[in-house]
Amino acid sequence: MSTIVALSTPVGRGAISVVRLSGDKSLVIARLLAPQLDNVKARYATLAQLRYPETGEVLDEVVITYFQGPHSVTGEDVVEISCHGSPAIVRQILDQTINLGARLADPGEFSLRALRNGKIDLAQAEAIRDLIAAETEAAVKQASRQVGGELAHTLSLFESDLTKVMVLLESALEFVEDDLPPNQVESVVQLLTSTVTGVEKLANSYSAGRLLQHGVNVAIVGSPNVGKSSLFNRLVEQDRAIVTHIPGTTRDTLSHAIDIGGIPVVLVDTAGMRETDDTVESIGIERTRRAMTDADLVLQVVDGSEPDAAFLDEISTASILVLNKSDLGPSVVSIKDARSVRVSALTGEGLDELRAAILASLNRGDSSYEGLLITNARQFDLLSLASMAIREALGLLGDRASEELVLVPLHNALRYLGQITGETTSEEILGQIFATFCIGK
Ligand code: GDP
Repeated sequence: MSTIVALSTPVGRGAISVVRLSGDKSLVIARLLAPQLDNVKARYATLAQLRYPETGEVLDEVVITYFQGPHSVTGEDVVEISCHGSPAIVRQILDQTINLGARLADPGEFSLRALRNGKIDLAQAEAIRDLIAAETEAAVKQASRQVGGELAHTLSLFESDLTKVMVLLESALEFVEDDLPPNQVESVVQLLTSTVTGVEKLANSYSAGRLLQHGVNVAIVGSPNVGKSSLFNRLVEQDRAIVTHIPGTTRDTLSHAIDIGGIPVVLVDTAGMRETDDTVESIGIERTRRAMTDADLVLQVVDGSEPDAAFLDEISTASILVLNKSDLGPSVVSIKDARSVRVSALTGEGLDELRAAILASLNRGDSSYEGLLITNARQFDLLSLASMAIREALGLLGDRASEELVLVPLHNALRYLGQITGETTSEEILGQIFATFCIGK
């Protein structure tokens, strides 16, 4: 197995950068660069001078930590070089290690090696990727649970129940003349029912998990002067802003990522698009429509003291009607349903209710942020396939089909569950998954 190397910290300047080597030759290469490493002790930080092998010139003063396989993150010999955080130094170190026989790591290759060496399962590897991408405290907590192996543990309980059932059915097959006695059929049905309920509950947690991990776009729309910008500013000020790169942000739209109840919310203020034409109203409505299509949720703002019929007609199912300027007195717009909230962007009144309404409408009542959540589509698909297979087995049992037939979907269910943790995942799929990781991970 080749020795790989990569920068493991973000590209750019900083106090330190960490270059990581993994593979048989890691220590040999590190020693050729830092001769004083002769008596290096595993898991101890050693101050060392890196030198160019040909000239003996000093490249940088670094701290080197050696992890002897299998007690390392990848299960192989690993050397971490903490150098000064300069892109030029990092480049030199990478070049020197490559000259000495290392190869630049592919995206996710450290994690892939960890998986191959049994250090982590596939769900944990994905969770590490999610943890790094997490933008809110709640998303960090979820990813951490999976990094800790909680998903694999839960799945192993399902797998062991399925295996129990399969052993029973297999043993009935051995004695051809006897079908499973009714009491055993009963307990098989019970076990499968409770397993499929658990699998489905986990699959259903995806809607909440996806929100936590990927967040949502919330557009603030409405006529000029109803207070969209004021509301935007209020929400941004009060909910800790997340510093993030927001893809798809156009120059004329103001957007900002905030944390509402743990969910990363990208607020888009359509007031950032300034009217340049006389046909203000038609443009306004057109823009509203466009913002609505891009958004997961629309905050339809009206001046509660001055109803705006044109926009009220536009209210869609994915909207919350925000009756702003509540400080100016009772609203002349009657509140239609629970999706209407009275606020004052000026005084801050009603903002907690608005945040609660945003959360409630994203939640759609079918998910909770408590407990273990799955956060990626691959896991959701596999859980759904597993639940369909178990339901098929239950159907066959109900029809008194032979044990042999019942076993087929159960074998499939077991395989789908195994693919979540990577036990039964093909090399090709593994390659695709790890390609979504960044280099150095
Ligand atoms: P936008 O054009 O919809 O973005 O509206 P702005 O946020 O620019 O607000 C228009 C005007 O309404 C400004 O003068 C704001 O100070 C005022 N305004 C916004 N929200 C409130 C509110 O809740 N109460 C009161 N009294 N005035 C508000």
